[in-house]
Amino acid sequence: MTFPFWVAGKPVTGGETATVRHPYDGSSAGSHFVPSPVDVEAAVQAAADVADEFATLPAHVRAGALDHVSRALGERAEEIAALITAESGKPLKWARGEVGRAVSTFRWAAEEARRFSGELQRLDTDPGGTGRLALVRRVPRGPVLGITPFNFPLNLVAHKVAPAIAVGAPIVLKPAPATPLTALLLGEILAGTDLPAGSWSILPVDNETSSRLVEDPRLPVVSFTGSVPVGWAIRDRVPRKHVALELGGNGAVLVCPDWTDLDFAAQRIATFAMYQAGQSCISVQRVYAHTSVFDALASKVVEQVASLRTGDPRAEGVDVGPLINEDAASRVSSWVSSAVSAGARLLTGGGRSGATVEPTVLADVPEDASVMAEEVFGPVVSLVRVSSVEEGVSRINASRFGLQAGVFTRELPTAFEVSAALRVGGVIVGDVPSFRADQMPYGGVKDSGVGREGPAAAMADFTEERVTVLTGL
Ligand code: NAD
Repeated sequence: MTFPFWVAGKPVTGGETATVRHPYDGSSAGSHFVPSPVDVEAAVQAAADVADEFATLPAHVRAGALDHVSRALGERAEEIAALITAESGKPLKWARGEVGRAVSTFRWAAEEARRFSGELQRLDTDPGGTGRLALVRRVPRGPVLGITPFNFPLNLVAHKVAPAIAVGAPIVLKPAPATPLTALLLGEILAGTDLPAGSWSILPVDNETSSRLVEDPRLPVVSFTGSVPVGWAIRDRVPRKHVALELGGNGAVLVCPDWTDLDFAAQRIATFAMYQAGQSCISVQRVYAHTSVFDALASKVVEQVASLRTGDPRAEGVDVGPLINEDAASRVSSWVSSAVSAGARLLTGGGRSGATVEPTVLADVPEDASVMAEEVFGPVVSLVRVSSVEEGVSRINASRFGLQAGVFTRELPTAFEVSAALRVGGVIVGDVPSFRADQMPYGGVKDSGVGREGPAAAMADFTEERVTVLTGL
């Protein structure tokens, strides 16, 4: 099937097409029509033209549309999960999980749309303000350009589209070239709502066109999720725009000496180092374990990792599929080889076949090895021994990234101290950094980005305060 793209809420077919390949075996996952410059211009102008009308559309209409999308995603869950697997190579079980999360992201946005309002501020706290009251409303900053990565073709699209609809900001969405089909299918569902024409468009365009969209003044908000260099370069290019960046990381776990349930910790570490073949911005990459638990934990992690089933992601029961393409797999393998040459011990894995990298566990890895210092984005986890909680915290903080971290401790004071000391966007106590509930504020510090997602946080981000001072009250 050849998917249409969407301009101002209408499907467009005809002209050039592009085929999307299954990362596992190169078979066709489907194809789509490619927007021409005229289509791109029409989408952007339509967003600009509808901005005022959309901003004043009643909340019940926007919330109703979001509820419709949430329900429809749930009804078509199996079909959508299969498409996610086909284009991303993500095992079916994780694709199903992603659809469930997108159902929830749209539902949360609907709820937030119903309660989103401003505040009343009293101004008579100083003599000059006597008799005055400020009504502080939040209004859309203007049309949003949403740019998304390949690794969550549905839910990260949902995290751009749903909050934009919730606040009444038109959105032009630019999905990842490797995985545009799921976003285009979402277009079918959005088309079943009565949102105004122009309030949304989905354009599977190349990076050059995406780059031009970034600079288009009619799209004053850029919400970008993707890699670190691309994200920061975008922000540098358009300093006057409102730019939110959800970028990469090298997720760390700290296992404190008081943690006794090493089976649980090992199972969580193994699962979330390897899920989506490590292609998640918050997958477990670095594990700092106290020396008193290190050896026992390492052998349990190896046991758990070795029990994972690697293979065709379309087959039920497969835990680890391919990376997005062979180049990515070859880069990951070369990083593993360099770490081993630099003195790391290979505990399991290390092999590669095409785009599939064997789940790999390394120990005693030097901090400056790429598998530690950079974002691996592959099924590789490095275990490192630390002699104190403080040492673990300082090693985690030494990274240039700061998305989320996990801390295994049952001691409440340690949990508070460590989460206060870690320079990251979120700390998950009693679990790995890979936990994300879609309603919570989510994002990073340092090179990992700026701004927060989650429907409520993104709605605040897509809007600005408009103050009306009422006098004589
Ligand atoms: P990427 O940066 O290569 O691409 C992301 C998007 O940007 C794609 O749609 C791409 O087409 C577009 N793009 C690329 N160059 C561009 C340019 N010059 N101008 C405008 N748009 C351009 O990232 P990717 O490989 O698709 O995704 C993986 C990265 O995303 C990883 O670093 C991962 O950590 C990160 N990520 C972050 C989060 C988060 O929430 N923090 C979530 C998922 C993925």
